[in-house]
Amino acid sequence: MPVDIPFRREFTFEYGRLEPVAPGIRRIVARNPSPFTFRGTGTYVIGNGEVAVIDPGPDLVEHVEALLAGLSGERVTHILITHTHRDHSPAAAALKAETGAATWGFGPHAGGKRGESGVEEGGDWDFVPDVVLRDGDPITGRGWCFEAVHTPGHTSNHLCFALADSGLLFSGDHVMGWSTSVISPPDGDMTAYLASLDKLLGRDDAIYWPTHGPSITEPQRHVRAFIAHRREREAGILDCLSAGLGQIDAIVERLYVGLQPGLHRAAGRSVHAHLLDLVGRGIVASDGPPTLDTRYRLVR
Ligand SMILES: [Zn+2]
Repeated sequence: MPVDIPFRREFTFEYGRLEPVAPGIRRIVARNPSPFTFRGTGTYVIGNGEVAVIDPGPDLVEHVEALLAGLSGERVTHILITHTHRDHSPAAAALKAETGAATWGFGPHAGGKRGESGVEEGGDWDFVPDVVLRDGDPITGRGWCFEAVHTPGHTSNHLCFALADSGLLFSGDHVMGWSTSVISPPDGDMTAYLASLDKLLGRDDAIYWPTHGPSITEPQRHVRAFIAHRREREAGILDCLSAGLGQIDAIVERLYVGLQPGLHRAAGRSVHAHLLDLVGRGIVASDGPPTLDTRYRLVR
């Protein structure tokens, strides 16, 4: 029976308006809706008077202007970046220029170089954090303190931010309510992603606030469902391989019934991520390097 993921897609907001969503937490949604961003990027503001901004968002002038208008009379002291995708980090440059706040993140984008063939789309190769964070590092401002939680998988530099004494985790694209996360090699890594889901199961955060879509109020149930979903997909891939389907295209066709044509490539990359994980575990082998186009088979 297919895994039932308790998706959450009810989402009330107004573009261009910084709105309170919880005590001490505000959010403004950028107008960049897409099949990968849901209604758009949710930029969070934490604190009052002297605030932290999480994921300033895409390079959209109107979004930064609306954020700054919403913060008039207040001071941005910290700019936190969950990861370097183009819907998350590019506006950090404009926000930093306007406010002088330092940027904090795990590191620059690690998914190859701009324009290089084979690297994933959507990387922000321009962002370099002023302050480099590692797992467990604290980030302290006026009236709030975060812990950086390194959660590689969606990207190798993905961080979640746990707000101390609140039970809130800003989960970026690692765990979202509206959708599963895109795991696109080479920077996306299924082995790391599953380990990062396990890592969250070992924590007791009560509510997740992802960058896209609404909050997740039963996060453990949600994370367990995502793990089960990936294990189910893996089982489907192993079935394909034992039936002699060894090309990623053929596996996608068999497993993703009714998929929108625009999402075929993304599905192929996800299957590729599973195959790389299975190769790493010694369960699957490839004819030559484990690329998107090669043939895969079960190790016997
Ligand atoms: Zn992303």
